Amino acid sequence: MVFLIQRLKKASPFEKFSDRIGFYYIDLKKEERLIFKESPNFPPLGVRRDFLDSIRNYLKFDYKLIIIDALGSVSCAEVSSIDKLSLIILGKAGFKDKGSFAKGFLHELGHSLGLRDECVDYSRPSPAGEPNCATNKEEAQKWWGDLVGKSPEVNYIRGCCGNKNYIRPTIASLMNDPDKAEDFGPVNERYLREVLIP
Ligand SMILES: [Zn+2]
Repeated sequence: MVFLIQRLKKASPFEKFSDRIGFYYIDLKKEERLIFKESPNFPPLGVRRDFLDSIRNYLKFDYKLIIIDALGSVSCAEVSSIDKLSLIILGKAGFKDKGSFAKGFLHELGHSLGLRDECVDYSRPSPAGEPNCATNKEEAQKWWGDLVGKSPEVNYIRGCCGNKNYIRPTIASLMNDPDKAEDFGPVNERYLREVLIP
């Protein structure tokens, strides 16, 4: 977990907000693991509501629950927002090394803060939406047209959310194939800065 936090604190724009991000660890006893329920569907793990509520009552604010599934290889997170409780599931066995695991975490964290998938080859197509997956160019121009030309990597690139006709802002991004990217890209970073500053 420590290196996930270290990687997060190096990732733009989180590096500027590291004092605003708190981490809490939960050590579960063996019998307490019954709060998780495996599912053959998506997402692969369910968590008992009373457990989630008890953490909410303790913290007094909403949070993201990061579950590291040491033996599983499915990673996922709902597209959510900063002010909502949501789950980030990391199937550790599916990553080839620590670096890849940390980038996979950033990808799923991006979803839990509202970012969409920017990949095209995806077995589960997902709905397009702001800020980073437009259904057409007009929509994309509205959302990030002001950055086209200003940031050299920002443009109207075909394909995101599993649909080759949708439009994404950059060729590579942590919201695309995380192994092939070092950052979220200017459009996603701007969005993240906006949600991280209330
Ligand atoms: Zn994804």
